[in-house]
Amino acid sequence: ARAAAHDLCTMHYERDTRYDFDLFVIGGGSGGVRAARVSANHGARVALAESSRLGGTCVNVGCIPKKLFSYGSHYLHDFEDARAYGWELPSSAELNRVDWSRLIRNKDAEIERLNGVYQRILDQAGVRIFHARAELVDAHTLRVGDEQTFTAKYILIAVGGHSNPLADMPGSEHCITSNDCFYLKHLPRSVLVVGGGYIGTEFAGIFHGYGSKVTQVHRGNLFLRGFDDDVRLFIAQQMRKDGIDLRFECTVKAVESVPDKSAPEGRVLRAHLTDGTELVVDQVLLAIGRHPNTDGIGLERAGVQTDPRRGHIIVDEYSRTNVEHIYAVGDVTNRLNLTPVAIAEGACFADTVFGGRARAPNYEMVPTAVFSVPPIGTVGLTEEKARELDKKQGGGGIDIYRSVFRPLKHTLTKRDRQTLMKLVVDRKTQRVLGCHLVDDAAPEIIQAVAIALKMGATKADFDNVIGVHPTGAEELVTMR
Ligand code: FAD
Ligand code: NDP
Repeated sequence: ARAAAHDLCTMHYERDTRYDFDLFVIGGGSGGVRAARVSANHGARVALAESSRLGGTCVNVGCIPKKLFSYGSHYLHDFEDARAYGWELPSSAELNRVDWSRLIRNKDAEIERLNGVYQRILDQAGVRIFHARAELVDAHTLRVGDEQTFTAKYILIAVGGHSNPLADMPGSEHCITSNDCFYLKHLPRSVLVVGGGYIGTEFAGIFHGYGSKVTQVHRGNLFLRGFDDDVRLFIAQQMRKDGIDLRFECTVKAVESVPDKSAPEGRVLRAHLTDGTELVVDQVLLAIGRHPNTDGIGLERAGVQTDPRRGHIIVDEYSRTNVEHIYAVGDVTNRLNLTPVAIAEGACFADTVFGGRARAPNYEMVPTAVFSVPPIGTVGLTEEKARELDKKQGGGGIDIYRSVFRPLKHTLTKRDRQTLMKLVVDRKTQRVLGCHLVDDAAPEIIQAVAIALKMGATKADFDNVIGVHPTGAEELVTMR
């Protein structure tokens, strides 16, 4: 890797005027924008094409609007809980009235502001922006929009992905994907959420919180594959207690649209499920994974290899494709499909190619959160993965520290809500290999825990820290 890194790295990048640009970035999302800005700051002449809106999935139809919706969806619970703390409030029926169009308007205004921020960041760095689709004509040439053609010494593909539309299912055209959730004209009275991953679980919580009747189906025997089993079971229990109809080993096989004048959309959807039941709902949300946007961007003309099964671009640890001067970052490479990862990949690419410093992103101990209700925060190995690795390495043993308790806040509200905290520890070295939290504050807590784990913290290091009292997080340093 060191020899390869040396080859990739140009100590002082010299502009190459044989090409229109030193770097052309296709896609102005999390990875593309960071790569373009850092490359320009390193002295490269950079262009970026974005076919939709600057900021990409995360800003426009992903992390940001999702988190805003998630904040919004908590208020009814908060209002109800406030009564236990002495607040006199109108009845739940009166409180449970949502002006959905106001939410969408306010969200749109914030997203528009962010689009402007991204535009300014790129303008200030001197990046030339094309608000147009780009595709490869050959390994150094790009078509931008219908008429323009440019050449570039390096090309970065950062085109992201799109939701699987389940096109071969009868009635899939009646269903929505996460993109549509952010532009619905009406809050659905009822939603069928298909898929047990991040998006399905987050939107089940969001719609339920806003008052929709939610059914979530997942084809496997437990959702959130890849997360710690304790977390998966615990979250399922909590969601069911909240009133979400969660069904495993069940998915949708067909959807019909049935006219209904009394429905907000003038029709309802009849969903046929594999468990033999039917559901009549206002919306069916397909949240069954995402595919890379690699079709029709001319990869074959440039000779860029993709994975034959899943279609993502194959890259090495420096995000370089099989074509020496073409790189790819973010969801289109299907490594860890998270915004901070795409950003890190974009920055590493820029430093490597234009900054004189070969850097590969480090995928160890990447913390992540699912903004479900309650939310999950997790970093490192699950218990299952740790035991599997331990067995392969001779079986020194894994210790588990686990605590389930009612958060102090809910002692007064009596809401049936619990917190789960779990540490996975290597018995021999005492290193904490994984931390898994389910708690309202889990996404915030896990960021700091990730620092400790990345630094190699042992269980004794956790125990040596004095807790912050009274918090839920203090349990992390008092678990015995
Ligand atoms: P994107 O951000 O998708 O950007 C790609 C850009 O390329 C898009 O703007 C697209 O319009 C443009 N493009 C595509 N083709 C072309 C072309 N031919 N020419 C020009 N432009 C083109 N991650 C988190 O870390 N936390 C979260 O909470 C989170 N929530 C999410 C919620 C949802 C609903 C979704 C869908 C995703 C969420 N993610 C979250 C994932 C995160 O959004 C992605 O990992 C991240 O946006 C990937 O960045 P990217 O640069 O690879 O691609
Ligand atoms: P995920 O890959 O997380 O989940 C997809 C779900 O759909 C799984 O439960 C999968 O089941 C199921 N599924 C897949 N194909 C089918 C099918 N044909 N029929 C029925 N079910 C199917 O994808 P998401 O769409 O939820 O999210 C995409 C990615 O975006 C995430 O993986 C994550 O990287 C990112 N993201 C991150 C967020 C965050 O950081 N908070 C929030 C939202 C998205 P099975 O497990 O059996 O394969």
